Amino acid sequence: MSSSLSNRFKVSTTFQQPQSVQSMFIGHHATVHCHECSRAMVPRVVIYYGQPLKSICPFCGATFTKFQSGLGRFINRFHTSKPSLAVLGQLLLMAVCSLLLFVMSDLNIVSDQIGLAAFYGAVIFGVTFLAELLFQGIEQLASKLSHESKYYWLTLITIGMLIAINYSELTSYIGGFFFIIVLRGLVVGLICFR
Ligand SMILES: [Zn+2]
Repeated sequence: MSSSLSNRFKVSTTFQQPQSVQSMFIGHHATVHCHECSRAMVPRVVIYYGQPLKSICPFCGATFTKFQSGLGRFINRFHTSKPSLAVLGQLLLMAVCSLLLFVMSDLNIVSDQIGLAAFYGAVIFGVTFLAELLFQGIEQLASKLSHESKYYWLTLITIGMLIAINYSELTSYIGGFFFIIVLRGLVVGLICFR
C-alpha cells in the first residue's frame, strides 16, 4: 500500500516536472534585455519588508519592472494613472459651454431652467477641471522625481487629517476638498469610459 503510494508519487513528479517546465519556456528565453544597458540579464527582485518592490538589472541597476503593492492597486482603482491633456481639454470645454448657456439664460435667450442646470454644470466641470489640474500636477511631479504618487496622496491625506483635527472649523473645507478629488475621479472616469 505504502509502496504503491510512494511509487505513484515518484512517477507523477518525475513525469510532470520536466514537462511543465519545458512547456512554460518553449519559445521563450529566461533572460530579458535591459532597457538601459541593453544587456541580456535575469532581473533581480528588490524586496522591502517582505513585499516585492521592483526588479533591477544586475549590471547597471536600472529598474526593469515595478511591482504594485496591495495599497497601490487599491488606490489605482480610483485614478487614471496616465495624465492626459485631452481630459483636461474636455473638462474645460464643458465648463465653458455650461458657462455660455448660463450667460445665455441671463440674457433670456434660453429658459431659466436650462440656465440653472448650466450653472450647476459650470460649477461641477469648473471645479473638476481645477481638481484634475492639481491631480495631474502632483502625478507629474511624482513621476519627474521618480517617486510613487501614492506617497504624495497619503502625505496629503495625512496633512488634511492633521489640520482637520487641530482646526475643527476647517474640517468641512478639507472634507470638501477630498470630496472634489473623488468627484474628479468619477467625472474623468466617465469621460474616459465614453
Ligand atoms: Zn542594465
